[in-house]
Amino acid sequence: MFMSSVTTAPFILDGIAIASQIKSELAVEVAAARDHGYIPGLAVILVGEVPASQIYVRSKVKTCAELGIYSEMHTPPASSSTEELLHLIASLNARESIDGILIQLPLPAHVDTPRLLEAIVPSKDVDGFHPINSGRLLSGFPTAKVLAPCTPAGIMEVLRRSKIPISGQRAVVIGRSNIVGKPAAAMLINASATVTICHSQTQNLAAITREADILVAAIGRPGFVTLDMVQPGATIIDVGINRITTEAELERFFPGDAARRASFDKRGSTLVGDVDPAAFAVAGAYTPVPGGVGALTIAMLMANTVKAARLRRG
Ligand code: NAD
Repeated sequence: MFMSSVTTAPFILDGIAIASQIKSELAVEVAAARDHGYIPGLAVILVGEVPASQIYVRSKVKTCAELGIYSEMHTPPASSSTEELLHLIASLNARESIDGILIQLPLPAHVDTPRLLEAIVPSKDVDGFHPINSGRLLSGFPTAKVLAPCTPAGIMEVLRRSKIPISGQRAVVIGRSNIVGKPAAAMLINASATVTICHSQTQNLAAITREADILVAAIGRPGFVTLDMVQPGATIIDVGINRITTEAELERFFPGDAARRASFDKRGSTLVGDVDPAAFAVAGAYTPVPGGVGALTIAMLMANTVKAARLRRG
């Protein structure tokens, strides 16, 4: 059990271990679904050939296979029109064997992304981006009945499974995106935290973040949250995934870290979150980058696919 203390070393919230625990539980659930005569199924739509998206999609399909979830990939060309993609979504909406539909973002600029996201039938919206599902989340529908965005759902799993107190705690979320910041704030409110959302126009940011018992950083800027912005003993959830490629950044964020140096020399880059690693020193607990929240996102996509399959069958 996690105990917050400023006098002991910060507790590392191991996203990889938590994701693997969730996946083991899901494999059991998928086996039970098969016994009940159905196999949860996920359709992934990847438009065009964006290398980073191809990597993400491949690992989603691979994880489906590991858990016994049926998956299929659709790879329409980058030149596809919104109408053509709407047609594909309609055909997947109608198929009984497909429980989840995921459109890998970002889409080419000429495509009407909000229109496509709204075209997915809400019961198959495993990314949780459809306004019906975000509305249900905001309305406080029971977690078991909502398809909620995967990354913030992963944050909540990390907090709950690590027994970090949430109810009555002061939570500060930096970032107001529909993918992370806003749904993370909604989930924390639903779990009875007192929540403040900060963003690019927030004034006196450090004064607000210093009040946080739980600080969620979802900004997209390497090492943005510095030591002076953290309350000693706070739990820091670092959602950011930023690739740094310069010697100066390596020295700034990982001075004297031989393992990082070796990995940087090998790959020419390394990852840093939205929190300056120096700030972790005063935390009670924190998610590392890599190996923190990022590890949970695919596990929660799998969880949503299994949940969607169950909910559609009553
Ligand atoms: P986004 O660009 O959509 O949103 C960034 C937010 O940060 C905005 O709401 C903006 O208001 C806020 N912001 C920007 N500058 C700020 C400033 N100076 N002060 C305060 N707030 C500021 O990004 P996103 O999609 O929410 O992603 C955020 C980060 O999380 C990125 O690093 C992204 O790579 C990462 N991410 C990780 C996962 C995962 O699986 N771990 C999933 C999604 C996103």
